[in-house]
Amino acid sequence: MSASSAKKGSFSLKVPEGMHVAVVGLGGTGCSVSQMLVRIGLAHLSLIDPDSVSRSNIGRQICYAERDIGRPKAETCREFLSRISPGCEIEFSDDLVTDSNAERVIGKPDILFDCTDNVRSRLNLNRYSVRKRITEIFVSSAYNSAQVKGIIPGITSCLECFANESILANTPCSFGDVAETMPVIAGLLGVNLMFSIISNNYNGEIITLNGKEYTAEKVRIDRNPECRTCGDLR
Ligand SMILES: [Zn+2]
Repeated sequence: MSASSAKKGSFSLKVPEGMHVAVVGLGGTGCSVSQMLVRIGLAHLSLIDPDSVSRSNIGRQICYAERDIGRPKAETCREFLSRISPGCEIEFSDDLVTDSNAERVIGKPDILFDCTDNVRSRLNLNRYSVRKRITEIFVSSAYNSAQVKGIIPGITSCLECFANESILANTPCSFGDVAETMPVIAGLLGVNLMFSIISNNYNGEIITLNGKEYTAEKVRIDRNPECRTCGDLR
């Protein structure tokens, strides 16, 4: 599978045969992403999250039910998704991804979804995907907004091109007073963005939906030659 094999301008909604996607973070956004991926025919999925299901998750984390409270998210999510699509090969891990274990835990998927809820994890994943040249899709939700961005190493800007640790620290991701609907919408938007990337129809913009005002914004973010993660990548 190539992330840029299609003719520019077309928009393919077909999941490439044999495509492998990894989803890191199985909260509101990650549940939405992974459920949609298996429903549309993904062949191979890796689910990664170290947490367990809690009661407050049930409103927006659509792969879990009340009876799952206290169970590990990754394994529970796999069980749920296997019932939807028994033919999809689904692996799971309850490791917390760090710089040192990323290769073992994530491997080399065709696409990596960053659905985590903290700055450190987001920067780790960004570094890993750029270093391994894995296309990443950043999915975030805070308060009444949903935000997505694709990172195609060597082609588009990466997360650190425009955001360093101190800026991201002030940007909540999927926690706090998040509307229960927005993480689900953010996840679906991320899957939609995946098709734009597959269709070679994406230029690195960050897309923000406001669920209160019903507005959408698309901001182009150019590569930063000074970026310490991707600045020297060609
Ligand atoms: Zn960069």
